[in-house]
Amino acid sequence: MARYDIAIIGTGPGGISAAITARVRNKNIVLLGSRNLSDKLSRAHRIDNYPGLPQISGADFAQALRDQLAGLGIGITEKRVASVYAMGEYFMIQAGEDILEASSVILASGLAAGKTLPGELPLLGRGVSYCATCDARLYRGKTVAVLGYSDEAAAEAEFLSEIVQQVLFFPLGKTEPQERDNLRILREKPEAIEGETTVRGVRTAGGLCEADGVFVLRDSVAPDRLVPGLELTDGHVAVDLEMRTNLPGLFACGDITGKPYQYIKAAGQGNVAALSAVAWLRELQEKKEK
Ligand SMILES: Cc1cc2nc3c(=O)[nH]c(=O)nc-3n(C[C@H](O)[C@H](O)[C@H](O)COP(=O)(O)OP(=O)(O)OC[C@H]3O[C@@H](n4cnc5c(N)ncnc54)[C@H](O)[C@@H]3O)c2cc1C
Repeated sequence: MARYDIAIIGTGPGGISAAITARVRNKNIVLLGSRNLSDKLSRAHRIDNYPGLPQISGADFAQALRDQLAGLGIGITEKRVASVYAMGEYFMIQAGEDILEASSVILASGLAAGKTLPGELPLLGRGVSYCATCDARLYRGKTVAVLGYSDEAAAEAEFLSEIVQQVLFFPLGKTEPQERDNLRILREKPEAIEGETTVRGVRTAGGLCEADGVFVLRDSVAPDRLVPGLELTDGHVAVDLEMRTNLPGLFACGDITGKPYQYIKAAGQGNVAALSAVAWLRELQEKKEK
């Protein structure tokens, strides 16, 4: 398997800035995220605080970033990363149905959305999953609930319905799937995920909706669930001034590292993270040559 120098997770200003610097430094990179870049860019009506671009709209800013990426020949790999594992001298990244390897990783996946539901964390890996592509086959012939917060949730639910016996979809975001025989839409608010050793279902005000598995599909996954062993401070990834995390070779930038939640801070940290990743790659190379 080809190993990238740097895998960059997230296509907001942090990840894009990191990708630009890494490419300018001639590194072999993969930029994982969305062609729409970031909702937080496209939803900004007017940006007043980005130096050199007074009163630009979020949409125009996003287009300028897209053009800059294209000009540098940087493509976006449209995959959601489900997990990143530190393997010693490299990282293994589960992105959609693919496994990628990279010598270093820059985490720029933005703020983890919202609070978790009661029961979600205790039952994670025991019926609770964040990745339909990764875990669908575990539920062949069974019933799953999909808590559809993310834009991709509807498509993921339709994909699941091709594999499992029954999908119960809770529309909690902007999209919903086409109902079909084995895909029902439940317009109820999930209050908790229930189960003792394994998932029993989703609790709503109307009672328990029984399910063997629950897919919680949010736009972003809390960083320590994305990267086991990652150290957090007050819910944000703990970084030093070089954007180093506690895991050697793994860097973070942008909203995920804490306040202020601002474009310029994300972009600045992305630049630092990329330069630190370049320095890390040099260290790895020097070690190999000894
Ligand atoms: C409506 C609105 C207006 C704003 N206006 C301003 C403003 O005027 N000025 C200002 O400075 N700031 C503003 N902000 C804040 C600014 O948007 C954020 O601080 C900034 O976008 C953070 O950049 P980021 O790169 O850290 O993360 P984000 O922009 O949140 O990008 C994160 C990226 O990671 C991707 N991602 C997440 N999880 C995964 C995964 N598992 N796999 C692959 N990709 C993943 C997401 O799809 C997204 O592309 C505004 C925010 C909003 C919501």
